[in-house]
Amino acid sequence: MILKARVVVPMDGPPIEHGAVVVDDNAIVAVGKAEEEVRWMDEGEVVELGDVALLPGLINAHCHLDYSTLRYSLSPSKSFASWVKRINAVKRTLTSDDYLDAIARGFRMLEKWGTTSVCNVEAFPELINIMAEPPIRTWWFYEMIDIRHRITTEEVVRGALEFFQSRPHSLSRFGLSPHAPYTASRSLYELANCCAETMQMALTTHVAESREELEMFADQGGPLYDFMHSLGRSMEDCGRQTPFGRLWNSGAVNEEWLLVHMNELEESDFALLAALPPERKPHVVHCPGSHAYFEHSPFPLRRLVELGVNVSLGTDSLASTHTLSLFVEMRRLRAKEPSLTARDVLKMVTLNPARALQRTGRLGTISPGAMADLIAVPIDNGGANVYEQIVDYRRPVPWMMIDGKIHNS
Ligand SMILES: [Zn+2]
Repeated sequence: MILKARVVVPMDGPPIEHGAVVVDDNAIVAVGKAEEEVRWMDEGEVVELGDVALLPGLINAHCHLDYSTLRYSLSPSKSFASWVKRINAVKRTLTSDDYLDAIARGFRMLEKWGTTSVCNVEAFPELINIMAEPPIRTWWFYEMIDIRHRITTEEVVRGALEFFQSRPHSLSRFGLSPHAPYTASRSLYELANCCAETMQMALTTHVAESREELEMFADQGGPLYDFMHSLGRSMEDCGRQTPFGRLWNSGAVNEEWLLVHMNELEESDFALLAALPPERKPHVVHCPGSHAYFEHSPFPLRRLVELGVNVSLGTDSLASTHTLSLFVEMRRLRAKEPSLTARDVLKMVTLNPARALQRTGRLGTISPGAMADLIAVPIDNGGANVYEQIVDYRRPVPWMMIDGKIHNS
């Protein structure tokens, strides 16, 4: 199949005016000028997409589809710990059917806004087995928490291993997600590393999300400290360390991990990042909408990028943001960081998350050998300022292809 578009935006090369992309089965086999590609391939269907920019499908590097029905249901709270208590109370009122409905709704929203891959942290992994094939490429990160009284670290890990015996869907990939340093023990992180290595899975965790998390680890106090203490968590690991420093220095996380948030960092954290060799710099996921909702400290994007950290974007869940559109997230970030170019911000939803997921050349790009995950965004003015036009696009994405299959809206 040949897809022809006013501009093809490969992301790892310059835009191609009057471009064409040749797709065979679920992969891209060629990309170039339309007249050359058509001559090159004289059979197969030609799809004229018209005045659009054809670009790689967007990758949402952090989401919780479980909470897609909780939009506007929790107002922001002054205290992070009290917000966690409130969402936990809401979660207890929901049934499996509610969560299945939420996940299906979340997928529809992701599709509507041109997302072709999502990293979804799943608190109820047993639901995956009774669900139909996800409509988009999905990394299901099995959420792991072991601070609860009734469950041991070993039971959490055994549950995950049993779950991964069955891998039902072709668009599904799997990963592990110890929740955060305040809810997952050091040994849970260690076991997650071992499992991920043997089973070739991705890893993600929340880290340094709130000032209260920093306060808990650095000062042995604050609302989150008190809340975790009341749950029976051993607080021996608190005091004189930052959440990131504690995880990194103990080997609980490394450059294989997607580290979500990293909002509240100390000078010691930046010094630690600066001292790492380039190949050991971590992958960080920033969620601009959720960040604004919680009023965290300004996200240190410039410093992280200058230190060689690979930054991607995620939406987080609809419990802490109002949309699953990465277009909105890109614009939010640019409003905070006006010096960021449209191309830079687009990389944070294509090339950068592909790299974090170890899918460089396979996702987030239009190049031979990449998966055929593509979206088309209408443009005008003959495609001038194409990156700006894409980031500024405000309507549902009218055309997308995932794994070589066209999804029409
Ligand atoms: Zn999250």
